[in-house]
Amino acid sequence: MRIVQKYGGTSVGDLERIENVAKRVAKSAKEGNQLVVVVSAMSGETNKLIGYAQHFSSMPSKREMDLLLSSGERITSALLSIALNEMGLEAIALTGRQSGIVTDSMHTSARIEHIDTDSLEKHLQSGKIVIVAGFQGINREGDVTTLGRGGSDLSAVALAGALQADLCEIYTDVDGVYTTDPRIEPKAKKIDKISYDEMLEFASLGAKVLQNRSVELAKKLNVNLVTRSSFNENEGTLITKEENIMEKPIVSGVALDKNQARITLRGVVDKPGIAAEIFSNLAEAGINVDMIIQNVGEDGATNLGFTVPENELESAKEMMLKMKPAENLEFDRDIAKVSIVGVGMKSHSGVASRAFEALAKENINIEMISTSEIKISMVVNEKYSELAVRALHEAYELDR
Ligand code: ASP
Ligand code: MG
Repeated sequence: MRIVQKYGGTSVGDLERIENVAKRVAKSAKEGNQLVVVVSAMSGETNKLIGYAQHFSSMPSKREMDLLLSSGERITSALLSIALNEMGLEAIALTGRQSGIVTDSMHTSARIEHIDTDSLEKHLQSGKIVIVAGFQGINREGDVTTLGRGGSDLSAVALAGALQADLCEIYTDVDGVYTTDPRIEPKAKKIDKISYDEMLEFASLGAKVLQNRSVELAKKLNVNLVTRSSFNENEGTLITKEENIMEKPIVSGVALDKNQARITLRGVVDKPGIAAEIFSNLAEAGINVDMIIQNVGEDGATNLGFTVPENELESAKEMMLKMKPAENLEFDRDIAKVSIVGVGMKSHSGVASRAFEALAKENINIEMISTSEIKISMVVNEKYSELAVRALHEAYELDR
């Protein structure tokens, strides 16, 4: 098989861990796999380099920042290659440029435009293990660029796509994707397979294993992604096309987002254009509105409620107080969003009622509801949100 492996910062956090990664890579190579290994900077390294730059300037040039930060990944790639050579394996370390990764010129948050795979293919054909410094490329002017924080995942997925790899394995310090946060529900189970769309919902709902950008790219390039731990031999979670998943559970998992706040406007004038005005102002200020609920109007007035990320509440509040779209404004931080996600929902009825019953049984009041084809989200009082997660986890038998 042709495999792209990616090891994150904690997996290469010190020399001993790099040695451990070298052993894993060697094992996979000896099994006959063709390997491209993408590495992150050793954990803390990127932040350390940013600190160095800030010693001299609060606004360092982004071009120089890219040159500086790209060095973290280069260090790891060279060290890993040296370790592999010492084990008697043929490995070669490459920078982004040497790997043919061409990006646009948006320094510190560049996008990969193209990968020229000639040199990678040549090294792979000659039997070498190719180690690539993640997180970086070059622009058309030949300047080093970086892909934004956490960007090594993107390097790996993009390379897997360009090289038509059978698999892209992302190694971190967690075993994979769980049916819910095991700190909240110890009975949570690791998911074997999940679709791109479910994974995207999970990530946007606050369950962070992989960056959304990487999952989106994997979906676009049709890359089979696996997330697994570099600290044990457990299998991990495969993120793939929905068609590749034979047995589709109705609900794959329960996600919790406590970083939510709500704004309620009572007595909004019920006439065309009001919602447009409120939400376009919020959008212009870069505030992410998530759920919106408007009641049926009465006597020319209506109530409107919506949620925003808790850390954007202050700016949203300021704007609402200035706009005064309603007589009565309420701001509430003590809410959380609990969601169930599953592609199986598309073909089953009664999914939502089971969720509502589960919360009713625990006496948890549902304050807002929103649904999509593969997701049902409910806003509840933050105090009871973990209980809600456990109740839903149980209701859909996710511990089985
Ligand atoms: N080293 C970079 C960062 O810390 C990129 C990465 O680790 O993926 O953001
Ligand atoms: Mg909250």
